[in-house]
Amino acid sequence: MNIEQVYKDANALLDGHFLLASGNHSSRYLQSAKVLEYPKKASLLTDALADMIKEAGIEVDTICSPAIGGILAGYELARSLDVRSIFVEKKEGGMELRRGFSIAQGEKIIICEDIITTGGSALKASKAIEALGGEVVAFASLANRGFCKRVKGNDISKEACALPEGIPLFALDDFTFEMYAPKDCPLCKEGNSQAIKPGSNS
Ligand code: ZN
Repeated sequence: MNIEQVYKDANALLDGHFLLASGNHSSRYLQSAKVLEYPKKASLLTDALADMIKEAGIEVDTICSPAIGGILAGYELARSLDVRSIFVEKKEGGMELRRGFSIAQGEKIIICEDIITTGGSALKASKAIEALGGEVVAFASLANRGFCKRVKGNDISKEACALPEGIPLFALDDFTFEMYAPKDCPLCKEGNSQAIKPGSNS
């Protein structure tokens, strides 16, 4: 499966002039919720991700996603692996389980996102799970922005990666885009466009 083409076909991989949440500019943007608009296509993606996880011999009881962005990807990955799906939600400074969800001591959990940038939300989710006695056995994401090293990926972990070493990250592909400080942005220098905020972001 050509993952980049799947994202392009879903209008999830945009070309233009974008202002990122970090304040940097970029000529490409991943609107990763778009690739999950059609559940049958979404499940093809998570089937591929599940195959990578199974191939690596990872045993898992439950998928846990950080809300909101990770919920759909996590739910579909749980379907692909035939395990339970739960999610954690933002609270002051971290994440927490609500809605009657619980986990057992030693329960093996994969934290699943739609996209891993630096992995900050995934890290908060993993801390919430570990505080309740769960064991985080892996991180998983459909797309990886190239800050964190993924299993079978070519990139090395950058300093900005928040994910702990020693717990594998599975992702379908790396989407490593150039980012520019506004004063260095070649698109701004061309002068034909202004950086726009594409709008996501939970
Ligand atoms: Zn610019």
